[in-house]
Amino acid sequence: MRKLIVFLFFLICNEFYSQATVDLDVIIGKSQSNLVGDSIRLEVNTYKAFKKMEAAAKRDGIYLKIVSAYRGFERQRLIWNNKYEKFTNDFSLEPEKAISEIIRFSTVPGTSRHHWGTDIDIIDGNFPDEENVLVSEKFEKDGLFYKVKNWLDNNSENFGFFLTYTNDKNRKGFEFEPWHYSYKPVSVKYFRALIKMDLKKIIKSLDVNGSDYFDQSFIDAYIAENIMDINPDLK
Ligand SMILES: [Zn+2]
Repeated sequence: MRKLIVFLFFLICNEFYSQATVDLDVIIGKSQSNLVGDSIRLEVNTYKAFKKMEAAAKRDGIYLKIVSAYRGFERQRLIWNNKYEKFTNDFSLEPEKAISEIIRFSTVPGTSRHHWGTDIDIIDGNFPDEENVLVSEKFEKDGLFYKVKNWLDNNSENFGFFLTYTNDKNRKGFEFEPWHYSYKPVSVKYFRALIKMDLKKIIKSLDVNGSDYFDQSFIDAYIAENIMDINPDLK
């Protein structure tokens, strides 16, 4: 009995400790306290793990290139606002329709996994002049980035990197992103911290284009599908 109590006490302390070590400003893209690197900024353990994976890939003749790593709240806000302007002005979409177009691939600011520095978009570095690199077909067989994709399929999980938005037909939320990987040992902690936050309040209080249309049903669906419906290995 005494051993059991000690064990339970240890578990509770451990849980509190791991929660306490997550800076909530990091989770919503408003702190960079966990990052290292210059142009490509990553969470410190993610950076070390990526360096190992990059070296292993290189030994196999594969050039892993990160095209997107950490992205802060303001940067995500700019991406969101630009897309909203484009969809409502250039394509004359209704606000609700513009928002549902944006959230096929882009997140509501404050909820991006790229805020964490644990998530990266990877392509083949051998094609520096290629434009529009984040296109699914380019990662398929006969696609330009297939060699890299095939290597990642076989090796990335050994280094802790898991695909976030998988090709599971039953998965809702963001579309299949064959380029987006997450460093599981850290991102799982961040994910759990994020879903414990008052996300409804955070999303409701955002000052971004179209936020007047963030009603309760939009917010509920966004949380359930875009935030929660990811690769189960990352939860
Ligand atoms: Zn991404």
